[in-house]
Amino acid sequence: DSVINKIAAGEIIIQPANALKEMLENSIDARASSIEILVKDGGMKLLQITDNGHGINREDLPLLCERFATSKLAKFEDLESIMTYGFRGEALASISHISRLSVVTKTADSQLAYKAHYYNGQLASPNFKSTTANVEPKPIAGKDGTQIIVEDLFYNIPSRLKALRSKSEEFSKILDVIGRYAVHSEGVGFNCKKFGESYQILSTRPNLPLKERIRVVFGTSIANDLLDIALDGDETKEEGESAKEKYGLIKVKGAITSSSYDNKKKIQPVFFINNRLVACDPLKRAITSVFQYFLPKGSHPFIYLSLEIDPQNVDVNIHPTKREVRFLHEDEIIELVVDKVHLVLSNVDK
Ligand code: ADP
Ligand code: MG
Repeated sequence: DSVINKIAAGEIIIQPANALKEMLENSIDARASSIEILVKDGGMKLLQITDNGHGINREDLPLLCERFATSKLAKFEDLESIMTYGFRGEALASISHISRLSVVTKTADSQLAYKAHYYNGQLASPNFKSTTANVEPKPIAGKDGTQIIVEDLFYNIPSRLKALRSKSEEFSKILDVIGRYAVHSEGVGFNCKKFGESYQILSTRPNLPLKERIRVVFGTSIANDLLDIALDGDETKEEGESAKEKYGLIKVKGAITSSSYDNKKKIQPVFFINNRLVACDPLKRAITSVFQYFLPKGSHPFIYLSLEIDPQNVDVNIHPTKREVRFLHEDEIIELVVDKVHLVLSNVDK
């Protein structure tokens, strides 16, 4: 039923930045090395994501926006080992129920690109009206990769539209999500423009060093004050047993600032767990409390941490709007990370 689907979709995607995050993850899953984002009116009018990833096969287009249609879950056992971001096949379906969604895509082994429009999860005519069986993807010329065009997000949910902040605030949230992925995604270049403007608001190239990515996104003063954090669960021994033996795979990478940089900005920590942008309040609180030993109270260091944890121990199936992640042995793993941060900060010459 399309009303129920619409309501469900409006609970998964509550602001343009949620839709954008899902699409960025899809592009990264498709192994893109370049992602271009075009935004009009805070994403309410237009969100367009263009990647150079592996594309979508023509025969997969009719069911692309069907709920639970996913190419990322071949068999049930994969649930336990899946390392890609999404596997629920719900994002595009949801977006197609609350916007006018178009896709242009080309795989390397196809001569042509195909363009398709969707309405309520189904292939539709170019005016997004007719969804009769004879609507088909249209062959056109195009480059390898995928472009997703989302127009008029929430056009059919007035209450959602009303609850949104200003265009510029919604745009800031979009930019924040892109910036975080740009810091984390080493092999991917990101470019973000506002519709009608020629300059890039955010621009990175693939394979920039971490420090340069942080400089582009968060500025020079943070980039010049970074301390590396690296931890390997294989090497951390406690009473003869490694952390890996105790809690499964653990790898931590990242960077923190050694000082407080700008109290006003209060940039939230950038946490990725198994390559998903997440919030993790217990980790945030624990690390913030370590900084209290080294910095004046109320300081706001910059924190970027990427954790790799045994996929079996992480609940990756988090709701797009609930970024808070849960994982097994959370206290113990957080303690390992905190000890490392403490050690790194202790070694700074004052
Ligand atoms: P999920 O990511 O959970 O599988 P989505 O609704 O986000 O579900 O996407 C549905 C499917 O559409 C994906 O499984 C993938 O096959 C395809 N897809 C979406 N975006 C892209 C993209 N940018 N490049 C290639 N395939 C894509
Ligand atoms: Mg997805």
